[in-house]
Amino acid sequence: MQYSSSSSSKKVEELVPKYDLFIQKHLFPIEKEIIYGSFKSNLPRLQALREIAKKEGLFAPHLSLHEGGLGLELMEFARISEVLGKSPLGHYIFNCQAPDIGNMELLHQFANEMLKEKYLVPLQRGDIRSCFAMTEPNNAGSNPVHLSTRAILEGNEYVINGHKWFTSSADGANFTIVMAITDPDNPNPYQRASMLLVPLDNPGYQLVRNIPIMGDIGDDYMSHGEVTFTNCRVPSSYLIGKEGQGFALAQERLGPGRIHHCMRWIGICERALDLMCRRALDRELDPGKPLSSQQTIQNWIAESAADIKASRLLVLETAYQIQHFGAKSAKEDISTIKFFVSEVMMKIIDRAIQVHGALGITDDTVLSFWYRHERGAKIYDGPDEVHKSVLARRILKSYSKP
Ligand SMILES: Cc1cc2nc3c(=O)[nH]c(=O)nc-3n(C[C@H](O)[C@H](O)[C@H](O)COP(=O)(O)OP(=O)(O)OC[C@H]3O[C@@H](n4cnc5c(N)ncnc54)[C@H](O)[C@@H]3O)c2cc1C
Repeated sequence: MQYSSSSSSKKVEELVPKYDLFIQKHLFPIEKEIIYGSFKSNLPRLQALREIAKKEGLFAPHLSLHEGGLGLELMEFARISEVLGKSPLGHYIFNCQAPDIGNMELLHQFANEMLKEKYLVPLQRGDIRSCFAMTEPNNAGSNPVHLSTRAILEGNEYVINGHKWFTSSADGANFTIVMAITDPDNPNPYQRASMLLVPLDNPGYQLVRNIPIMGDIGDDYMSHGEVTFTNCRVPSSYLIGKEGQGFALAQERLGPGRIHHCMRWIGICERALDLMCRRALDRELDPGKPLSSQQTIQNWIAESAADIKASRLLVLETAYQIQHFGAKSAKEDISTIKFFVSEVMMKIIDRAIQVHGALGITDDTVLSFWYRHERGAKIYDGPDEVHKSVLARRILKSYSKP
């Protein structure tokens, strides 16, 4: 069984224009002021928009109906994620933003009832935010088993010590899920780490700084934190899943997560292409001679449209595989979309900037925000080179002699 474009449901086809209208009406007019200003000081305004989203029945599309969401399947949510990606505020307003969406999935599947009640329910309602602390400044993040953060069980408590960075959205978050080594001597390196939930008012936790990203320090949801855990104690009931399951849970979190990111990136590409076309038509090189009359510009428009279409088909096909056969069976496809779509996105943002000339590098359009902040897409969720290796190894294996 294979994905075809007719696999799209009636429900999602009805929802897409509603989300599209919402972001055009409510988000496009205010987004620049927020992304180039202070996120924190705009929280009341953003909250008011979340209330409108709730009233219109569009909030938290990824959650089940009984959790207050729209009960969408992965492929259906993927289509919505594409639309929301057109604004840097899209996913946040509808409470389906990374890293919270991944943490919701983790807690939903693997947390005990106490943690669900105390942390998952308010997270799903959008009353609190969370973050995910795995990467460490002193160890190569592309080798996930290489971690120094330790959690040692003392009586009924885990004592955590470690140093993490790129803990996205730590500023203003209520809790983090931290990956720490609990069994350093386990012969299987993939069974040495565990995930623990740490409330961020814990005295052993510190947000050291928001890390400046290409000149932009960011704040609140739009930030990346450097954080420390110093004799940070949490009850043993704050363990997620079982001891030693950290990497297995991280894998669970990453499969659907890559679909969400890739569809969001496609939404960015669509908006960049739209801006590119509008500028090409408006800007006149000579009276009556718009930029769009130039063949190079036409090539960029055509190539971008083809890249977007190819990306969408690849990602939806992968979502279909995950939805019907599980993330494990789609391992190489998940790697393929990660590096393919991130490259397409950077190429299209760059073309759109070039078409805008000097205006393209100003903060008068959203393009410079994406150029700065989406460059990380080729690095996070596993650097592109690692994903290319996964695919190449699979291909080369088919040549091995019996
Ligand atoms: C915007 C952003 C948000 C992030 N958010 C989070 C978060 O919320 N939580 C979290 O825990 N982490 C987060 N990260 C961290 C991210 O997961 C790591 O940056 C990533 O895993 C790479 O690790 P590293 O930065 O240590 O790079 P390194 O491991 O030092 O790798 C450096 C480079 O080496 C090359 N390389 C590595 N391995 C290979 C290989 N096998 N073959 C060929 N080349 C290779 C790649 O080019 C890679 O970019 C985020 C990162 C970014 C940029």
